[in-house]
Amino acid sequence: MAQTFTHEFNHAGFKGKVEVPLGLFIDGKWTTSVDKGAKTIDSVNPSTGEVICSIHEGLGADVDVAVKAARKAFDTTWGTNCPGFERGKYLIRIAELIERDVDILASLEAMDNGKAFAIAKGFDVPQSAAVFRYYGGWADKIHGKTIETSSLKFAYTAHEPVGVAGQIIPWNFPLYMFSWKIGPALAAGCTVVIKPSELTPLTALYMTKLIKEAGVPDGVINVVTGYGNTVGSTIAAHPEVDKVAFTGSTAVGRKVLEEASKSNLKKVTLELGGKGANIIFEDADLEEAVKYAAQGFLFNHGQTCCAGTRLFVHQNIYDKFAARFKEITSKTKVGDPFDANVYQGPQVSQTQYDRIMNHIECGKQEGAKVITGGVRHGKQGYFIEPTIFGDVTANMKIVKEEIFGPVIVISKFEDEDKVIAEANQSEYGLSAGLFTKDITRAHRVAQQLKAGTIWVNCFNELHPQVPFGGYKSSGLGRELGEYALENYTEVKAVHVNMGMKCGFPV
Ligand code: NAD
Repeated sequence: MAQTFTHEFNHAGFKGKVEVPLGLFIDGKWTTSVDKGAKTIDSVNPSTGEVICSIHEGLGADVDVAVKAARKAFDTTWGTNCPGFERGKYLIRIAELIERDVDILASLEAMDNGKAFAIAKGFDVPQSAAVFRYYGGWADKIHGKTIETSSLKFAYTAHEPVGVAGQIIPWNFPLYMFSWKIGPALAAGCTVVIKPSELTPLTALYMTKLIKEAGVPDGVINVVTGYGNTVGSTIAAHPEVDKVAFTGSTAVGRKVLEEASKSNLKKVTLELGGKGANIIFEDADLEEAVKYAAQGFLFNHGQTCCAGTRLFVHQNIYDKFAARFKEITSKTKVGDPFDANVYQGPQVSQTQYDRIMNHIECGKQEGAKVITGGVRHGKQGYFIEPTIFGDVTANMKIVKEEIFGPVIVISKFEDEDKVIAEANQSEYGLSAGLFTKDITRAHRVAQQLKAGTIWVNCFNELHPQVPFGGYKSSGLGRELGEYALENYTEVKAVHVNMGMKCGFPV
């Protein structure tokens, strides 16, 4: 029998006791691993480095059990057995429950991931609800087409659910990524086996209670906690999983694609890393551009795949821009995620902290200039000062590699064509931004930037109805919007003859 973790929150934003089931959630029940070799995994509070609780480790054998449950549900209570408007009602009910429990979910995110409570409450949780609600609206609107092929023949298409979807998510947006994956899958009629990150499992586990309360039939959503090289790789390779959706690093994305192609050639979507360029033209609204540029790299402590971490500023405004950018970046409040004034909490783990600090050291050694930051913040936890590097060159590691922390590189440019070429000089192509008041230039540059999302006079805007995904090594396929439904549906074409005689010569 799986246990529950109980925590009494007592901060300015929320006071109250919260219970989180710690078990694997399979076929509507909380359970422990079927493999006697399974252990527990400590979930650590990144603000203090202390263990919050220990969750149950799932292993490959548990994925087998979860996939069987998901298949049974697909064949009996979900898929084509549950009309779209009924599936939509469950998704909308989940959205309502997320909204009801906003303080609980935001508190869990702040404790487990380290993101500021106010931001989790204002962004992660309501946006996750919005994604569930948006796909609830889609569930009964997934239609095929009728195609006339001749006067006595026509064809129609049906968009059928793919089947069992395996989903693997990272730690940077534990709840939000959960919604991106489950929303479109359930709307399309798929059932799901999802693996949260071993670093931030608590909101996904809390969600299992809400899924139960929403009355979602058993086996439709199965949550298997565990490590990537066991649970994750089993999901990717599983012959009974029809589709795998992965969000995480490009290195692991490649492995997932390899595993998936070895077994049953399942459909694959990958949302991977990024190194977003942000271009500030001479005519930009300087104050707005400075603020968006700061938010563009510091949002979620820089742990955002679409972060704008390569900043290009026109030479005629560079000095003014750089001075103001340094001022507001260095004033960004770093600290306790439960302090209402804090924008930036800790990095998620000691490993991530070390990775980022290594990049910072490397930048210093390569000769880049620290304009601000570049050091640890405070004495405990995994906090890093927001860091701006200047005097950078295109071949430096800090310019080429995704750092996934509060670190940005800034450089001057003179010429539009050259800056576009520099912006595109990256293995990644997830996001880019540009700031200008010239509408012609805005569209001209947007068209030439090689990235799945371009922001004009803003940064890090995400909406349930707008697709998101990457060019180049940033991924395969698109999530969110109507586009995400394609990931979870097969198109069947049915040809119908209304009386045309067969031309076979007899
Ligand atoms: P990660 O690749 O280490 O892990 C992501 C998930 O994959 C985790 O659940 C992990 O347990 C699992 N995993 C690890 N090894 C696996 C394997 N061999 N097979 C299957 N699954 C495995 O990434 P992370 O450190 O959790 O997240 C950070 C990365 O994710 C960054 O590179 C970031 O850019 C990327 N990311 C991308 C998006 C996007 O939408 N493009 C969104 C969020 C994060």
